[in-house]
Amino acid sequence: MKSFTTLPLSQAMLDNLEKLEYEIMTPIQEKSIPPIISGSDILAQAKTGSGKTAAFGIGLLHMLNVKRFRIQALVLCPTRELAEQVTGELRRLARFQHNIKLIKITGGLPMRKQEHSLSHEAHIVVGTPGRVLKLLDRGSLKLDDVKMIVLDEADRMLDMGFIDEIAEIFRFAPSERQTLCFSATFPDEIKSLSRSILYNPVEISVDTQHDSKIISQHFFRVKGTEKCQAVTSLLAEFQPQNAIIFCNTKDACRKVGKELISRGLHSLALHGDLEQKERTEVLIRFANGSSNILVATDVAARGLDISDLGAVINYDLPFETETYVHRIGRTGRAGKEGLALSLISGKEDFRLHQINQLVKENFSIEEKAWDAPLGTYHLPSMITLSINGGRKNKISAGDILGALTSEGGISGNDVGKIDRMDYITFVAVKREYAAKALEILEKGQVKGRRFKAIIND
Ligand code: AMP
Repeated sequence: MKSFTTLPLSQAMLDNLEKLEYEIMTPIQEKSIPPIISGSDILAQAKTGSGKTAAFGIGLLHMLNVKRFRIQALVLCPTRELAEQVTGELRRLARFQHNIKLIKITGGLPMRKQEHSLSHEAHIVVGTPGRVLKLLDRGSLKLDDVKMIVLDEADRMLDMGFIDEIAEIFRFAPSERQTLCFSATFPDEIKSLSRSILYNPVEISVDTQHDSKIISQHFFRVKGTEKCQAVTSLLAEFQPQNAIIFCNTKDACRKVGKELISRGLHSLALHGDLEQKERTEVLIRFANGSSNILVATDVAARGLDISDLGAVINYDLPFETETYVHRIGRTGRAGKEGLALSLISGKEDFRLHQINQLVKENFSIEEKAWDAPLGTYHLPSMITLSINGGRKNKISAGDILGALTSEGGISGNDVGKIDRMDYITFVAVKREYAAKALEILEKGQVKGRRFKAIIND
């Protein structure tokens, strides 16, 4: 735990931090501010609440030449709300120095006003990718003097489909610059994006639990006929945020999927009989939170890239013990505790014995009465709308987000992942705004054109 006074910051900045009652650096600040100040690119794992805004904010203000009225730093955020928060934090941090000008440019607000502010020169721009790119295209925003670009919540920006906009924006920026990328998770897309925009980055992670992952494992005795009842009870008892239920056959998968729906749960089945199009849709709906139960076979779940599974449930124990280890490895990532629940029926005790040998544990079988569950399992928070236009129709994530959130629309925080295919786009929105979002998309226009939208539920 170090104090800010150990950093080579101006006395005025240190005095201001003291006024803000920032004395001790948070772990992300302690690790990232020194390399930022020394000019390195960084790739940092940081969540909201970690103090990441002040980490890049202090670095950014430190390098600013206040006498030079040119845009020297650009901060990109996924949503208008985050841009608002970042702007607020930067303004508080910038109070130590007179005359630092900061402009916020986000979608859903009149462009002309923002262009007017930009014509008066400023030092820092905080914005969302869609609107930033529009103003760059129109020539009203220039990045020629930019020395630092910050990507805040990079994974969320990619989730929202902003990858093309971000790549475009970087084409407007000088190649000699400092780039800071902050992200809560590191899926492959972030790694490949950072390879193309970061130079020799210092990698920072403060999540110490990451390597030694903890998975809580349970085995329950069931009769073959009680299995769906058991799954329903376990979901109600453990309340994982979401779950994959593994079955050994396609038939079981279909049957379990249907039975869970008839029990009032929201489940999707993923098996080899689905067409590619259906498979894509199922994976998107599960990944964007529009369904919280996925019933799958091992083969169908291959390539499923979801880092944040609340639980893995083995409806059937796998034939191969290694498959058990592989299945449960899908829960308990990103520093969270994982949960693996397995049903054991009939003559399967030897499988548990094999598992115990492989994982060097001594799990035993728990007995439970599978009566009607106490309580219910929650429904998913999101819902997916599909729009009959995509990449090939030149619709961007920003266009859709803009349409949904423009005046009288819904808040950016209520919009989830935006997945664009060639001719179709899937947008997740909070369930309670489904009808409103549908109305906006059907009545309004996206990029001057009218598209059809439907709710997939
Ligand atoms: P963030 O993760 O950037 O959203 O920041 C979380 C909150 O912590 C914000 O309200 C900051 O104002 C506050 N904060 C950031 N750094 C410090 C610090 N070193 N000491 C105390 N509070 C801080």
